[in-house]
Amino acid sequence: MAIEKTFVAVKPDGVRRGLIGEIIKRFEQRGLKIVGMKMLWADEEFASEHYFEHKEKPFFGRLKEHITSGPVVAMAVEGADSISVTRKIVGPTGGDVAPLGTIRGDLGHMGIKHACEKGKICLNLVHASDCKENAEREIKLWFKPEELHTYKRADEDEVM
Ligand code: UDP
Ligand code: MG
Repeated sequence: MAIEKTFVAVKPDGVRRGLIGEIIKRFEQRGLKIVGMKMLWADEEFASEHYFEHKEKPFFGRLKEHITSGPVVAMAVEGADSISVTRKIVGPTGGDVAPLGTIRGDLGHMGIKHACEKGKICLNLVHASDCKENAEREIKLWFKPEELHTYKRADEDEVM
């Protein structure tokens, strides 16, 4: 078990649907600590850097269009194994296949309208870094060092 930081963002579709609070709650209630948070509107250059691993993919242009279509709530999230734990809380990419109990499974499927239609960007509400290297890179990209905070959650003192 390692205490690590990861990068999580409520994407523009999550912000537009009024799900910021609901999404943040899922991480907080699992005991993860928000150590940095802000709302910002990424431009195309910033989006290219964030998603650079997808630059050869056919959906890269549409992906950038989506992430720059509105403001994003960016978070640095700290906790034991936070990279894999946040990915579990978020769920698999497609809201139509994500299990119930995950953010994407519970909130990412819009009934008969698929959240992950072929040829379209999956409107899956949230981003979470997928490995240590990307977590470090993404936190550095989205946050200045002074925007990250060190504090104790109340429940950290309650562990016997
Ligand atoms: N995406 C998509 N179609 C795909 C693969 C990805 O629309 O076939 C979008 C989707 O919004 C996803 C993002 O691109 O969240 C980044 O893709 P990735 O494979 O990194 O998925 P994630 O890590 O977000 O689950
Ligand atoms: Mg990814």
